[in-house]
Amino acid sequence: MALVTLQTIFQDAFPAYEALHPLPAHVRKAARAIMQCRTAAPGGHSQACPDGHLTRVWYTSCRHRSCPQCASLQTERWLILQQARWLACDHYHAIFTLPHDLNPLWLANVPVMSALRFQAVRETLCTVLAGPKSLGAQPGVLAALHTWSQTLVLHPPLHGVVTGGGRTPAGQWVAVRNGLLLPARVVMAVLRGTMLDALRQAFARGVLTLPEPMQPQQCFTLLHRLGHPRKTAWNVRIMERSRHGAGVVTSLARSLRGGPIKHARLVACDGERVTLLQRARHEGTATPQRLTLPVADLLQRWLWHVPVPHTRVVRAYGLSHHTQAEALVACRTALGQPPVEAPACLAWQTVCAQRGEAHPERCPTCGQLLVCTGVIPRGGAPPPVLAGEIAA
Ligand SMILES: [Zn+2]
Ligand SMILES: [Zn+2]
Repeated sequence: MALVTLQTIFQDAFPAYEALHPLPAHVRKAARAIMQCRTAAPGGHSQACPDGHLTRVWYTSCRHRSCPQCASLQTERWLILQQARWLACDHYHAIFTLPHDLNPLWLANVPVMSALRFQAVRETLCTVLAGPKSLGAQPGVLAALHTWSQTLVLHPPLHGVVTGGGRTPAGQWVAVRNGLLLPARVVMAVLRGTMLDALRQAFARGVLTLPEPMQPQQCFTLLHRLGHPRKTAWNVRIMERSRHGAGVVTSLARSLRGGPIKHARLVACDGERVTLLQRARHEGTATPQRLTLPVADLLQRWLWHVPVPHTRVVRAYGLSHHTQAEALVACRTALGQPPVEAPACLAWQTVCAQRGEAHPERCPTCGQLLVCTGVIPRGGAPPPVLAGEIAA
């Protein structure tokens, strides 16, 4: 059976889908990138071993942040940067979910509402933890915005990885006591007030677009109702402390890059319907389940999650912000860590080697560096592939 990838699904079904559905330019651009990544369309170059053991064609990658083929290098580079600055303390994973009633407003204002949510989470965590009844110190926070669930429907939780301690105004490191960062209900109440205030102000300034057919009065009523503690749930979950927190950041990074669906989850596609694996939990046990969708539904769900250009999905606050380098070094010293050292840029050849793939620039027979034997222009025809050659 032919290998099912997101690229083959898009190549087969997207042209017909696009003809029937008007799509924003950045969404069409993402679809084109997925369809053309590492094909003849964007061009590339041909390579050969100087001793003639091998000649091959190397096509250009799209490097789109939603492309599952191009995600690993960017993810690994980002992780190395985070690891170099990491504090050797407990970390806490907090998850902030918006009430579903805000989804229509979210869809009509993704960049504005993303910024407001990041701001509200920063204010909530940093303000509450800096308060005298809490830690009384400034923590480090990495916040990341996800927009999808396992079934690719709209589900925009914001994840925060928070240090289990912080720096006091006197410059001392103080750790969270008793393994409890903050009571979730306190965080939830502060977050709800902060986010609703921010939404009201944004609406008053005219920067919020109301979704059809919502009228201004309905928007006011909605925001008023969402402020009522018993009428609407604002879910905040603060997970048990993690001794180092690196695992949470790694899984976040790998899920944020490469779009909402990785190739390992795609099981089959018959041209009409596509089957994918989804994680499901029953009585605490993770059991993969199969979900079958019409191909058009899968495309629609995937396209919802293409990020609007220039929107950031990960932000750093407090000790984790780049302007807090001195405070970070002081905290690392208090925790017995050396000063931050800028890591060397991870080469893509190293990532290939870590994945156990053949070195992309060396001949697998004699180990010599391959030499470029020709450039394939964008949309140009590739040179004929002879027996024993590889089209990469
Ligand atoms: Zn790509
Ligand atoms: Zn060779």
